[in-house]
Amino acid sequence: MDIPNLISRQRQFFKSHVTLAISYRKNALHKLKALLQSQEEHLQKAIYTDFGKSAFDSYATELGILYKEIDFYLRKIDGLSAPQRVKTNLANLPGSSYIYPEPYGCTLVIGAWNYPYQLSFGPAIAAIAAGNTCVIKPSELPKNTMMLMADLINKNFPSEFLHVVVGGVEETTLLLKEKFDKIFFTGSTRVGKIVYEAAAKHLTPVTLELGGKSPVIVTRSANLESAVKRIVWGKFLNCGQTCIAPDYILVEEKIKAQFVDLLLKKIQSSNYTEGASHYTRIINERNFDRLVKMIDHKKVIFGGDFKKETLHISPTVMTDISWDDLVMQDEIFGPILPIISFKTYDEAIQAILEKEKPLSAYLFSEDDKEKAQFTQELSFGGGCINDVIIHIANEHLPFGGVGGSGIGSYHGKYGFDCFSHSKSILKKPTWGEPSLKYPPYNSSKLAWIKRLLG
Ligand code: NAD
Repeated sequence: MDIPNLISRQRQFFKSHVTLAISYRKNALHKLKALLQSQEEHLQKAIYTDFGKSAFDSYATELGILYKEIDFYLRKIDGLSAPQRVKTNLANLPGSSYIYPEPYGCTLVIGAWNYPYQLSFGPAIAAIAAGNTCVIKPSELPKNTMMLMADLINKNFPSEFLHVVVGGVEETTLLLKEKFDKIFFTGSTRVGKIVYEAAAKHLTPVTLELGGKSPVIVTRSANLESAVKRIVWGKFLNCGQTCIAPDYILVEEKIKAQFVDLLLKKIQSSNYTEGASHYTRIINERNFDRLVKMIDHKKVIFGGDFKKETLHISPTVMTDISWDDLVMQDEIFGPILPIISFKTYDEAIQAILEKEKPLSAYLFSEDDKEKAQFTQELSFGGGCINDVIIHIANEHLPFGGVGGSGIGSYHGKYGFDCFSHSKSILKKPTWGEPSLKYPPYNSSKLAWIKRLLG
């Protein structure tokens, strides 16, 4: 693939203003939805081949989300792209003021592997809705999904508008040498820094959707039955390979024994066995080895089994974990759940504040004071009180990280904004020209300007 040529053609196409037409954007979104729907079976088969993800999971966490996002833009695109009239300040009267959402131009979306369709097509859908051209670079780790995405898009859309580049680090590095008008990256914090550095050379704006260690706090006021049910679902969904999965649990010491007992019963009854349709496998050997190293068998109270030939790791719970343990140093991104206990709620809050700002945080509590402290004192991308993960499924909420977990956000209106520049326009009539701003200046003009701007 001649990458410089692709970008140059996309840039020329953008300059032709074709993508400014709302009808063009709507047609592209309708077409993409129809394509995905017609290929649903192939898309599901590819992701199952790559890492054993079931048809239910791939619909609920990939395709269904994309359809919802496309429908959202089809419904809202007229309003989102219309100029918005805002107030005009006294000094600028007579006049009227507007914000024009304007597409950035030629955009690049780099996806992560763990939700391959959602994380590559999701941002691209927002880019299209906002009137941009888009180059998609999906993750190379799930090979079948990557090849299918390329086949689907490259056969059905003109490459000067939308194109999937197949490849790994080498191709991404070549892409990052080019000048884009916006880069949207999903992946690790390590690679996020590489992307940010490359974008800085061209002053290209970025959205970085990164990872981190997302904590779950469980206090003695929590409804424990409900807490374990939701935590177990969220932790072992996609075999723990979810950026906003509960990474570790901070549980109040007084209820630790009861919580752990319920937690283990719930995992046991959920039947996350090798080959179960609701339990996927680890994506590759590198991640498998990384995860197995994190398992400290002296601290395992559940699971701890693994099989390299099938890249299977059973749900694994470890207790009596300290902050210095290997499992607490980096994002786990797998089915290992460490538990740390705390004596006071303040201690738990302080411990999280000591760490890098996480992508998500979760609190299980029925206490209003604890809830207020959680939302006011902790900084994190987004999260839930009394649930995990599902804040991502509300298109009215921005999704993104903060600090080490990312820059910017998307989904729904926020996705449209993320791929748009807000252009300010002040419209003035040619009558009613006040002489105030023009020299020569005198004390009376100074008094007026102080009154106007003071
Ligand atoms: P990754 O950073 O290894 O790869 C992401 C993308 O970057 C891939 O397309 C890959 O080809 C490319 N890449 C890898 N190395 C590169 C390099 N040296 N130079 C240029 N490009 C390079 O991440 P991953 O393993 O695909 O995904 C796991 C990470 O992503 C986890 O940290 C997870 O938390 C995070 N993640 C975040 C979100 C979110 O929405 N915030 C969603 C999913 C995953």
